[in-house]
Amino acid sequence: MKAIQILSQGGPEVLQLTDLPMPSQKAGEVLVRVAIAGVNYADVYQRNGQNPAVLPAIPGTEGAGVVVEGNADLPAGTRVAWLSQPGSYAEYLSIPAWKLVRLPDDISNEQATAVIMQGVTVQYLAETSYQIKAGDTALVHAGAGGVGLLLIQLLKHKGATVLTTVSTAAKEELARQAGADHVIRYTETDFVAAVKELTQQQGVHVVYDSVGLTTYQGSMAVLRPLGSLVLFGQSSGNVPPIDPMTLCRSGSLFFTRPTLAHHVADAASLTARSQRVLGWLREGILRPRIGGTYPLAHAAQAQADLESRKTTGKLLLTVET
Ligand code: NDP
Repeated sequence: MKAIQILSQGGPEVLQLTDLPMPSQKAGEVLVRVAIAGVNYADVYQRNGQNPAVLPAIPGTEGAGVVVEGNADLPAGTRVAWLSQPGSYAEYLSIPAWKLVRLPDDISNEQATAVIMQGVTVQYLAETSYQIKAGDTALVHAGAGGVGLLLIQLLKHKGATVLTTVSTAAKEELARQAGADHVIRYTETDFVAAVKELTQQQGVHVVYDSVGLTTYQGSMAVLRPLGSLVLFGQSSGNVPPIDPMTLCRSGSLFFTRPTLAHHVADAASLTARSQRVLGWLREGILRPRIGGTYPLAHAAQAQADLESRKTTGKLLLTVET
């Protein structure tokens, strides 16, 4: 089969299209033909060494396709999507059957891949990491990204006031269309001063921070006492260790650093969270924006674009041609 493989950590050039043997199936696994693979920032961390993959590796943890060798519950021909499963930048994937989300006819492979991983991420961020309530004020960094746009949409649906940061005018427009109440260009404006002014010096109840190194200190500074910092990524670089006394002095803050895998670690959690997300997709609460579609062979370009802050919304790789 054709697959992207990485043999060493490095820049996008280490993503090489290769011919590899078909994956072997372990007990409890089914074989899936991949139609679409999702590109996520986590793929970049695994490639560049911020969160290194065990090598050699086939990148990608998300996609949609069709079962080709299944079981009684998931026979050949069943359309499925998955998340949190390595090896998705490939024509075929062997995956534990319990990790598959059955797709209804009215949800396309593109739609499913545009929400399955990032949608479940925003579900747990807003309903588990910090349970957002109507009337809360939230700050979302990188609001025009794949996760950012979906998170703004969900927080607005739940009745929060949403402040967000972006780097360009075009991204500002997209964040507003997603429902953001206030958009701050943090590349030109001090976002700490802007958030304080917009909240009459009160600060926000929660910051959802996926940018990390360049934002985490400001994120703590804009929280009101007893506020929550949900650090869930580090697109600008890894965050150094935080002294607990900083949280104390800054207002008895809550700090969490969650990751998706722990929220979909068993069939019941995966089913509950993914069905919630597919329901929100149907109801128009989540409205994914596909910001770019690339052939599998151009995975390096997709990741380079993502890292260079050029992209908005979700990036997809077309695997089946
Ligand atoms: P995005 O589409 O949001 O792309 C990343 C964005 O980060 C950029 O567009 C850019 O937005 C912003 N950014 C700020 N500084 C930098 C920098 N120095 N280099 C690159 N980008 C920068 O990506 P995703 O939607 O795929 O992921 C968003 C974040 O969410 C990532 O950090 C990812 O790891 C995290 N994530 C975490 C999960 C978890 O379970 N913990 C699950 C899924 C995603 P701008 O130009 O507006 O600044």
